[in-house]
Amino acid sequence: MRPIQMVDTKTQYHKIKSDVDKEVLDVLESSAFINGKPVQDFAANLSAYLGVKHTIPCANGTDALQIAMMALGFQPGDEVITPSFTYIATTEVIALLKLTPVFVEVDPKTFCIDPTALEKAITPKTKAIVPVHLYGHAAPMEEIMAIAKKYDLFVIEDNAQAIGCDYTFSDGTKKKTGTIGHIGATSFYPSKNLGAFGDGGAIFTNDDELAVKLKMIANHGQSKRYYHDVVGCNSRLDTIQAAILDIKLRHLDEYTIARRAAADFYDKSFAGNPKIKTPYRAPFSHHVFHQYTMILEGVDRDGLNQFLAEHKIPSMIYYPVPGHKQKMFEQFGTASQVMPVTDWLTGRVISLPMHTELDEEQLKFITNKVLEYVNK
Ligand SMILES: *Cc1c(COP(=O)(O)O)cnc(C)c1O
Repeated sequence: MRPIQMVDTKTQYHKIKSDVDKEVLDVLESSAFINGKPVQDFAANLSAYLGVKHTIPCANGTDALQIAMMALGFQPGDEVITPSFTYIATTEVIALLKLTPVFVEVDPKTFCIDPTALEKAITPKTKAIVPVHLYGHAAPMEEIMAIAKKYDLFVIEDNAQAIGCDYTFSDGTKKKTGTIGHIGATSFYPSKNLGAFGDGGAIFTNDDELAVKLKMIANHGQSKRYYHDVVGCNSRLDTIQAAILDIKLRHLDEYTIARRAAADFYDKSFAGNPKIKTPYRAPFSHHVFHQYTMILEGVDRDGLNQFLAEHKIPSMIYYPVPGHKQKMFEQFGTASQVMPVTDWLTGRVISLPMHTELDEEQLKFITNKVLEYVNK
C-alpha cells in the first residue's frame, strides 16, 4: 500500500508533470516572473469557470480577505459578523483592519454560519457578514443574502475551502460559491482544492466599481503608474504559480469527483454507526470535500487520533480552538461568550485523509482502522 497522507500533492503533480514542467520552463525562459501573460490568462479562465465578471489574483487567501475588507470603506470599530468555527485567517484580518469581529454560531449540520444567530448579532454598527464555506460545504447563501439586503450589509464569502462548489437556489438556479456575495475570496495554498505550488489567492466580484478598487488596493493603491490614490498593499500572484494553476484548473472538476468518491466510500463504510456522524450534505450545496470531517459521539477523540497515527494514518482536528477563544482577540472580550454549538463541535470533530489520490486499498485500511477503534 502507498503511504497514507492527509494531502498527497506529489502523486497529483506526477499525473500532470509534463504539462506543468513545460509551462514552468516557459515562464523561466520568458522571465516575466511578475504579471506575465499566464496571470491574465488564468484570471480570465477562472472567471469563465466560476461565471463571475472579475477575478483579481493576489498573493494568498488571507490577503484576498483583507483587500476585500479594505475596498468596502469600513471605519475603525465597524462590526463584521463571522463564524467562530473557522480558520483564523477569516477573523484575523477583521481585527488587523481595526474592525470588530462579532462571532456567531454555526449550524452543527453544515458547520457553516447559522442565519438565525447571524441576524440576532446585527447592530447599527454592523457593516458586513463573512460566511465561510467550511470544509467544502456551502454556507446557506440564499438566507444570508436576504438578511444582508434587509439590513443593507456587505457579504464577503470566504471560499478558500470550496472552490468549484455549486450552490442551488430555491428557484433551481445555480451559482458557484465565491460569486454570490458582493466579494468572494479564495486561497490557492497547496493543500486547497485548487492548490498552487506555493502561495496564491484571488478575489472575485461582479461589481465593476469594486473590481477597480480591489485591483488598485492589491497594487499599492495605484490608479496609474506612480499615482497612488488610496493606501493599498502589495499582493500579487506570481507568473509561475498562475501557469501551474491554469493547468490545474482544467482538472478541477475531476479533482472534485475524486474527492467526492473518497467521501462516498467513507460515508458508506460508517453508515449506521451510532458513534460516527458523517458529513451532512445540504440539498443546496454540492459538497467539494476540502475536508472529510465527522463528529464523534462517545469516542475518545485523542485516543482515535493516536491509534490511527500508530497505524500510519494521519488525522487532524480542524479546529481545536474556536475564534472567540483565541488569545489574539482578548481585547474584544469574546472568550467569555457562550457558544454551545461551536464548543460542542470543537470537542468532537475529526478530519480523515482527504485528497484526489486516495485509492480503494488505502480507504479500506483507513475505514477498517477507524471502525476497529470506535467499536472496541
Ligand atoms: C486557507 C484558508 C484561508 C487563508 O488562505 P491562505 O492562502 O493560507 O492565506 C482563509 N480562510 C480559510 C477558511 C482557509 O481555509
